[in-house]
Amino acid sequence: MVRLHTRIRRATLLLILLALSGLTACGAPDAVNVYSARQEALIQPLLEKFTAETGITVNLVTGNGDALLARLENEGDNSPADLFLTSDAGNLYRAQAKNLLQPVTSPALQAGAPAHLRSDENYWYGLSVRARVLVFAAERVDAADLSDYTSLADPVWRDRICVRSSGNIYNQSLVAGMLASDGPAATASWLDGFVANFARTPQGGDRDQIKAVAAGQCDVALVNSYYLGGMLQSDNLAEREAAEQVTLFWPNQAGRGTHINISGAGVTRAASKPEAARQLMEFMLREDSQRWYAQVNNEFPVRAGVEPSALLQSWGSFEADALNVSELGRLNAEAVKAMDRAGWK
Ligand code: FE
Repeated sequence: MVRLHTRIRRATLLLILLALSGLTACGAPDAVNVYSARQEALIQPLLEKFTAETGITVNLVTGNGDALLARLENEGDNSPADLFLTSDAGNLYRAQAKNLLQPVTSPALQAGAPAHLRSDENYWYGLSVRARVLVFAAERVDAADLSDYTSLADPVWRDRICVRSSGNIYNQSLVAGMLASDGPAATASWLDGFVANFARTPQGGDRDQIKAVAAGQCDVALVNSYYLGGMLQSDNLAEREAAEQVTLFWPNQAGRGTHINISGAGVTRAASKPEAARQLMEFMLREDSQRWYAQVNNEFPVRAGVEPSALLQSWGSFEADALNVSELGRLNAEAVKAMDRAGWK
């Protein structure tokens, strides 16, 4: 009797071990390697849920976007990365142009990311949306004087605008979007007027521009929407107070809509697990993942029909530029040249 029990226990143990180690019918456990320019906290819980559902382990390497891109390039065909996760269509396009990604598609991917928020040739897919908005000091600026990005070149804004450097991809993409919609001549003259209105030499990140408006160093700043959200919810009292002193304005509502960009991902050309990488992208585009992924960084879901967080809804709805974000990458080099010519440091 005791012996029989032991045998049954052994058999059960064997079954459990098989279930834990086998995972898939073909034997070897699946793992997918992700190079992520997004912070671990922004994706780790999502990756754990993916593993729990699929049995596919996710190995995460996080780092600076440019550094990860250089690493992918150096590793070439030997790169262990299966999926590259980064922000800004300009960066995803760069990875595509350097032949570091491979085209991948499926009905779930096509349904998850709208056509204008993914690569035309299926090299990468948007996973969240961010808007490049204006923040202003309500006591020094009449909101009625704000309209679109182009009006920021008017002399009325002389020495009143804060923005980060032209080396930043967010600004490069904004200018690329302007090149796509307004053409090179209009963009060049806008840049001249805009740069002439800077209150100071560009410095710091988007949070620093918000702080500068709050501190009275400038009246208007150009920033990504999630920075304001992050500061409003910050544990740091000074950041929270600075954010509470500024007001958000959605530019271009009478025109082509506010400039938006994405965070997104693409399967690497060197991927040894392209199927698992595709599954992970599909998982991240699922409705429940979309809600979580957008909320944790105060971004907007890329998938249609998924509601943004209560904080984002409190900012009111807005019209977003419907430009295909691939254009932001395609016109990046031209944008950088134009900014340089205008003396945008
Ligand atoms: Fe950012």
